[in-house]
Amino acid sequence: MKITSRRAVLTSVAAAAATLPLLNDLAGNGGTAAAAETSEPVVTNAVLYSDPQFQEGVDWMRRFRCGPAGTELLDNASGTSQPVRSTAIIAPHGGAIEQGTSELCLAIAGYKPAAASTTQLPAAEEGQLQRDYWMFEALKNISKLHVTSALCDDPAALAVCGNNLYAVSLHGFAPDVPAISPTPPDFLHRQILIGGRDQRLMRTLARAFADQGFTRDNSDPAKRVEVILAGANSPLNGDDPANIVNRTRTGAGAQLEISTELRKAMFGNWDTAADRRTTYGAAGAPAFFWNGFVNAVRHAIDRHEKGYADAPASQA
Ligand SMILES: [Zn+2]
Repeated sequence: MKITSRRAVLTSVAAAAATLPLLNDLAGNGGTAAAAETSEPVVTNAVLYSDPQFQEGVDWMRRFRCGPAGTELLDNASGTSQPVRSTAIIAPHGGAIEQGTSELCLAIAGYKPAAASTTQLPAAEEGQLQRDYWMFEALKNISKLHVTSALCDDPAALAVCGNNLYAVSLHGFAPDVPAISPTPPDFLHRQILIGGRDQRLMRTLARAFADQGFTRDNSDPAKRVEVILAGANSPLNGDDPANIVNRTRTGAGAQLEISTELRKAMFGNWDTAADRRTTYGAAGAPAFFWNGFVNAVRHAIDRHEKGYADAPASQA
């Protein structure tokens, strides 16, 4: 049943998507991922932080930056307008839980991915704007360390999101593609599911990914990525107002669920945090997927902050 319905939907949306790189959420898709995200024990950050079973620095850590540097708003020119720089980048399940999302969070926020240290802050990426970020990073892959996004009550996360107009969250998921076929095309494993409550930001992100060549019909099969705009019924559509990514000043943000295979493809070696920090965007495929993803999200945020509609980024 599931196989038939998904194939039918895939065929119909493939036809519909000929001119538009966005797909509606696929019926049945995400079941496995939803289970993976929702079968975790129900705890809040407060409960987790108070649990003597887990120690900060041993089992988990959190890193964030939130401040007014360079955020003065001024526009006194007739021919240009200043974007309202106010988008937070967050990785609620970083570190060992959804590998690669911490590194992406720092990079999109304008920093070089770096190890946590009390003496060494992540270095700013030259030529890039630095943005507020918040990451919860598991130091061990323990399911209890996965606090559901709607239950996130970390004060720093609330401050980072609450001080910004918009937010983009980075997550990892495992689409249920292998259940469909034992040998699906590679690109079906490389997926991005875009959810959230900020529809304009979501569409702008989808366009930006397409502009980077992240499409299911890229002429090079090795570069194909399936980008899906989550539908209203998707269990991973991130539209819960309580979801930390939506707890911004506008009450909305965009949630990016990135498949395991796509995250893996961004690193030369993604086994450990140290491996990921030294091989992100390595020559070859990792450079295409890492740079494409980071640049697409930065570009989409930039366009969104200028107040533009979701036209192709090439027209920006
Ligand atoms: Zn997650």
